[in-house]
Amino acid sequence: MLKVCKFGGSSLASGKQLKKIKKIVNSDDSRKIIVASACGKSNKNDHKVTDLLYLSIAHKKYGMSYEHIIKNIKEKHQSIIDELKLNFNLDNEIKKIKHLLESKGNDDEIISFGEYLASKLLALYLDADFVDAKKVICFNYDGSINLEKTKDKFLPYLKSNKKIVVPGFYGALANGVIKVMSRGGSDITGSILANVVDADIYENWTDVSGIYVCDPHIIKNPKKIKTITYAELREMSYMGANVLHEEAIYPVKEKGIPINILNTNKYQEEGTMIVSSCKKNDKVGPISGITGKTDFYVVSVAKINSSSEIGFIKKILEVFEYYRVSVVLVTTSIDSFSIIVDKNDVKNTIYEITNEIKTKLKCDEVSIYDNLSLVCVVGRGMKSKKGISGKIFSLLGENDINIRTISQGADEISIIVGVDDANFEKTINCIYERFVK
Ligand code: ASP
Repeated sequence: MLKVCKFGGSSLASGKQLKKIKKIVNSDDSRKIIVASACGKSNKNDHKVTDLLYLSIAHKKYGMSYEHIIKNIKEKHQSIIDELKLNFNLDNEIKKIKHLLESKGNDDEIISFGEYLASKLLALYLDADFVDAKKVICFNYDGSINLEKTKDKFLPYLKSNKKIVVPGFYGALANGVIKVMSRGGSDITGSILANVVDADIYENWTDVSGIYVCDPHIIKNPKKIKTITYAELREMSYMGANVLHEEAIYPVKEKGIPINILNTNKYQEEGTMIVSSCKKNDKVGPISGITGKTDFYVVSVAKINSSSEIGFIKKILEVFEYYRVSVVLVTTSIDSFSIIVDKNDVKNTIYEITNEIKTKLKCDEVSIYDNLSLVCVVGRGMKSKKGISGKIFSLLGENDINIRTISQGADEISIIVGVDDANFEKTINCIYERFVK
């Protein structure tokens, strides 16, 4: 059994947290590969080290002093060193960050310092091997990961009897230049390493005990999801559930490696298992999760006979593409099409977009509706089960919630309903109470 364990920033926020990591990692020999994020916040007023590093670069750029920021970064790490009584020369490392800032070095290298430092401390504390991500996580020049090369570089390190700590979030291009991933990218590093070592499980240790059926800010103490498929999770993440970095799913999915979301602060709890598919006798209720987002715009386009005009939708979508706006959903009725987009993405261009659609496509009417929320009901258990959508729709009707738009893919694992923003939480509440509780 071989496990890759990724620990998020909150698990590295203080010496106390590193002690928990040690307990977790040492309690299981198969927890061989440890991926660490940069130190996160240890309390509400604290800052994430990665944020501080970005901030120091911005200060440098605008000619402002960044000394106080570096001091903050130093103190944060020093307190871990002191609490764990580590023999570590922090001054040397801080000098390197300062030098990079002063010499206008590669910004990515400066930003990668958060993961680099946290991992160095963790490796020292665990008496594990430190393997720098710049030596093993290989980027292609187009920004994608070269899995073959990463595998070749990383596998030799597995021969060691010790555990291995690798910083998350960054790697290097073929010329050795350090490159960071998008924010939250340590999840991706863990997934890549799980792929290249053919891990049995990818454990993702965070500060929540798994994935909940709904956002706990909306439903108090919602139920936890025990098992969810990658496909269900994808639907939930797209519609607002913030669990894992989206790109972290693909490397493990390719090999069918399950991801276990676990809580460093409550390590005995079971967490949520994300799997490629479930067993045939999978006894699951119809609904695995309910998620959603507010603040969408609907651009509604009507033109007589457009349903038989070949390429009509393509031409509408090209206008959005031209303005670099991502289309969230398209719903249709005969001769009218609703394009749903995120309000933030179009706030500066919505009138240009609608004007262009109207004139270019000679439409009868183009209107904009705002304040739309999308609520996404996800569940592999809905597939081939009759009556679920009917029950959801009548439930909302009974609760005086008007459904403005509906969408269901042919794979039947999700139903999306569009309601007024004012009804967003009420909709989630009703569905949770009726189907989950
Ligand atoms: N430290 C990076 C961030 O804050 C990456 C990570 O934590 O996964 O985005």
